[in-house]
This record gives sequence, structure tokens and C-alpha cells, in this order.
Amino acid sequence: MTYLNPAEVESALENLAAAYPSATELITCPNPTHEGRTTRVLRVGTRSGVDGLLLLGGVHAREWVPPDALVSLAADLLEAHGLGTGLVYGGQRYTADEVRHVVEGMAVYVFPCVNPDGRAHSQTADPLWRKNRRPHPRGGGCVGVDVNRNFDFLWDHTAKFAPDSRVATSADPCDRQVYRGPSAASEPETRNVVWLLDTRPDIRVLVDVHSAVPVILHAWGSDENQSTRPEQTFLDPRFDGLRGRPRDSAYGEYITPADLGAVSALSQRMRDAVKAVRGVDYPVEQAYGLYPTSGASDDYAYSRHFADPAKTKVHGFTIECGRTFQPSWAEAEQVIREVGSAALALALAVPAAPPG
Ligand SMILES: [Zn+2]
Repeated sequence: MTYLNPAEVESALENLAAAYPSATELITCPNPTHEGRTTRVLRVGTRSGVDGLLLLGGVHAREWVPPDALVSLAADLLEAHGLGTGLVYGGQRYTADEVRHVVEGMAVYVFPCVNPDGRAHSQTADPLWRKNRRPHPRGGGCVGVDVNRNFDFLWDHTAKFAPDSRVATSADPCDRQVYRGPSAASEPETRNVVWLLDTRPDIRVLVDVHSAVPVILHAWGSDENQSTRPEQTFLDPRFDGLRGRPRDSAYGEYITPADLGAVSALSQRMRDAVKAVRGVDYPVEQAYGLYPTSGASDDYAYSRHFADPAKTKVHGFTIECGRTFQPSWAEAEQVIREVGSAALALALAVPAAPPG
């Protein structure tokens, strides 16, 4: 075995949908990529009207493990559910009842390869390529946008963050790593994720699976969390130019104690589930702990409800799995088990309907 290429990811989803028609729905994203690829999402779950968990992979092209991990998880869940068995990931076991609880009590939306053009480029031409492959109209020949800086959350960092914030994004189309794009949600890959959240209001949790640190990240990524000054939020322009400075009191991103408690507890469940596989520790941190970010998927997902209370509140997480972008396949298989274990632990912790 080796890593799946983008076409193999899509055909794996098609095969699973064909093999398990009563437990799946194959969803085609509306926005083809610059190179004309169409991406799909496999919804795993036998019932409608249940809470949803969205798993993203392959946002960053060079991070080869997450798409394979998400395809494996979908296949494992469907096979175990079909056979009425549990799942074993190293030292972590999930019972047949737990598998049934996930497949029959909730919806797991598996979107394994958000950025297929980038993955193809990384797998065939430039292994450390991170962005998508769309040229900027005024980019002087430079190609690609960092999809995880393109979401509509404090996207315009030059206006929203302090000049000395060291926010990890860039307005330079030739930045090889973190070019944010010409406008928020300018990229088809970004718009496909937004479309999914818009059209599936049952989704209550989003996990964007990246590599490699390892670490488990929860809200917020823009500034240090605080729960005492509710006026300090990403929505308030009075704080433009102040965000992203470490250890200052001028601005901290507001989060309620209840939400902070919830995301901390869910993150800890994932950490424990990963550690049980083979002993590797994925510490839990606030996303800001790495560096301030803007335009990231996890913050965007969580921010939607605050920008528009009619939208479902979606808790956003990022798992940075493994220790290298492209480990040997033998090591990748271990990391795939860790990701699967974390995702199942999270699914079991999200309130699900009783299995039907
Ligand atoms: Zn990444």
C-alpha cells in the first residue's frame, strides 16, 4: 500500500457509497477546482435529523496522511457496522455498540481531499507544495492560495491584526506558504467547505485534520482566549489593529466559559483516544498557542454562529497528526489509526440520537 492519489480518494468514496447504500450518501461539491477536479463528501449515517460531525482532510497538499486517514475511517466504520463488530486501533477498542451508536445515531461527513490539485502537484512534482494551484490574476505568474488562510474569519489581517502581531498569513501572491488569496472565500476549495456548512445545518462539529506536530487545537486562533470582556470579539471594528499581540490586555478573543469547557473536554477525549493507540501524546492547546492565524477553517466554522445567530453553532478543531508530512507507509498506518481513534472518540462525545 501507499498513499492514495486524488482520483483514488474519489473512487474509494464511490466504492464505499456503492457497497453501503443504506448507510451512506455521496455528496458532490458544487465548485470544481482550478484544474477541473470535482471533490466529494461521503456522509456516513443511516438516519436523517441527527447531529453531524464534519471531517476535513487534504487542505494542505503536502500533508499526505489525512486524506488516507479519513478514507480509512469511513471504510472501517461502514465495514464494522455492516458486520456488527467493534473496531480495534492498537490499544484502543470501540465496541460494536459504540460503532452502531455513531453510524445510527449521528452523521459523519467525510471530506478527505479538499485540495486535490495541490495533492496531485505534491505527489508528482513538488513534494513540499502546500497551497492550491490557482494562479492569482495579478500574481505575476505566482500560483496558489493557502486554503486555510482563505476563510472569512478576520481574513484581512492587515486591517484586523496589530502590525507587530506576527499573524501567520500573507497578502503576497508569491508567498509559497500562507498567501491568503485575493479575497475571503475566493477559492473553490474554500467555497466547497462553506457550501457544506450552509447546506447541512445539522453539522455541529468540524475537525480539520492536518499534519504534523502533533497537537490538538481548539478555538480561538486569533488571540488569547478570555471570558470576562464579551465586547472583545472578531466582529467589533473598534479592536481592529489590536489583535494578535501576545500577553497584552488590549484584546483577547471572547469565549464563554461553557464553550471553553466544552471544547477543552472534547479535545481531551481526542488526546486520550490517540494516546491509547500506541502511547503518542497529542497535547491540547488553544489554536493561538502555535501562532495567531486568520482565515482558518476551524475559527471560521465556530465564528459563523456569532456573525449570524440563525446559523448552527459549530465547534471547530484542528488535529495536527504525526511528526512528518510524508512518513513511510508503515508509520502512516499508525498515524491513520491515531486519527481514526480521535475521530471516533469525538463522535461518541457529541450528543447523538439513540441508535434506531
Ligand atoms: Zn496543514
